[in-house]
Amino acid sequence: MPVSRILVADDDVAVLESVTWLLQENGYEVIPANGGMACLEQLEKRAPDLLLLDILMPDADGCQLLERIKSEERWRDLPVLMLSAQPPEEASVRSLGLGAADFIRKPYRPKELLARVQVQLRTGAMLRSTRMALVRTEEALVRAQQDADSRRKLVDILHEVTGDLSVTELFHLLVRRAARALGVSHCSVVLARPGDAQAVVVAAFENLGLQHLTIQLDRYPELKAALESGQPVLVEDLDTHPLYEGVRHVWGIEGIEVPIRSVIALPFTVDRGQYGVFLVRRTRDQDRFGPHDLEFAQAVITAAVAVIQRAQMVESTMADNARLEQLAQTDPLTQLLNRRALTERITAEMERALRYDSTMALLMIDLDHFKKVNDTYGHLVGDDVLRDVGRLLLDTIRGSDIVARYGGEEFLLLLPETDEAGAVSFAERVRAAVDEYEFARGGEHPPLKLTASIGVAVFPAARIENVEDLFSRADAALYRAKADGRNRVRQ
Ligand code: GH3
Ligand code: MG
Ligand code: MG
Repeated sequence: MPVSRILVADDDVAVLESVTWLLQENGYEVIPANGGMACLEQLEKRAPDLLLLDILMPDADGCQLLERIKSEERWRDLPVLMLSAQPPEEASVRSLGLGAADFIRKPYRPKELLARVQVQLRTGAMLRSTRMALVRTEEALVRAQQDADSRRKLVDILHEVTGDLSVTELFHLLVRRAARALGVSHCSVVLARPGDAQAVVVAAFENLGLQHLTIQLDRYPELKAALESGQPVLVEDLDTHPLYEGVRHVWGIEGIEVPIRSVIALPFTVDRGQYGVFLVRRTRDQDRFGPHDLEFAQAVITAAVAVIQRAQMVESTMADNARLEQLAQTDPLTQLLNRRALTERITAEMERALRYDSTMALLMIDLDHFKKVNDTYGHLVGDDVLRDVGRLLLDTIRGSDIVARYGGEEFLLLLPETDEAGAVSFAERVRAAVDEYEFARGGEHPPLKLTASIGVAVFPAARIENVEDLFSRADAALYRAKADGRNRVRQ
């Protein structure tokens, strides 16, 4: 542990020396300052962990000095122990009010001084580490927020760039772009894995209407070579290149005239193990491909593959976001909306009610003596019952109503476009539905019976201004339903 550094400011040299000695003897590093000005100077230079400050000094009033120190942000957490020969009440009350940590009377007793110094150093360290933890937490929060924001932004941007294109549509787009950039008449994307005998052409510039044409790879030795080696293959001239020897022989036998002169095959892989080859070709009336064409084609294809990868990332990020959003809104046991999600809907619904001059209602439903179910049949049966209640509520509501689990054995129903009379009669229906329901327990066990109490609150209403007001109104009504004997509705 580092040695604590204590700044001692006193104009009385005898006191200064004795305190310095005492503290040094006890293992502290001491910075003596003879008077108020010296104190400020050392404070700037040495960043002490604790300040022992005399109240009466000829060049500065200790209390004013204290006030000044405490008004500065960087010294806010520095513990200051006041030393004074003044009567304790007067000096201590004043200095404590100004932010001193403690007060020691002169002449001091060494043991007391050491004890108080120790306490203040410990408190100061604790305060600093707490504040640092707080700052770190805040930073982490801000970072998390920024991450989420930039993810969302990325999704938006990529969505705009790639629109709703499927990967196949993207391949079509890419062969068009690549053909134009490379100045070739033939450009296609062929999907296959190393070792395959067949491949599928998913897009071709020379035949834009083409959809998934299967080809035999032994007729395309450059594709095979590219797939198997993972390296680009350049065939400058089909008529002379050794790779085409066998194929040329077949062409001769079959009397086939091939219009293609020059070929580049560029293998690529995209996420999820999709292997393929970009195939660019030139006909006999065009220039042959050379090594510089290969380089250029490689650059175009690398960029194209990056686009495909981004498109796949967009797809999976969008799926992730949707899933996270769903998780954050759902109660895991019943799969109903959770309280947070419902609170957002209620806020929106309250605004709508005001805007359109309509009414809405909130039902707070609490199962009666539910603890007994757990106590008698166990927690797992309790969980089953809660799930059943969730389903029962879903079956009872209209399309525009919303069911949520408030927590524990409490549920909420949000009823848009419903006035008090409507809400009360609906609540009565819900109550009766629970009352009549037979909760199956599986096997030979007889079904379980339960009742519920329901509190009703409507909006707009006097003294209800926000969601919390509406919740507490429903809660108060629920409390009355319980107090009046349970299995009933109150508003
Ligand atoms: P009251 O009629 O006054 O509402 O009585 P109660 O027993 O229903 O109410 P209380 O609030 O005393 O107890 C609620 C019980 O609900 C206690 C708790 O064990 C149970 N509970 C809360 N959440 C769950 C859960 O997720 N699963 C199960 N099985 N039980 C739960
Ligand atoms: Mg209950
Ligand atoms: Mg309860």
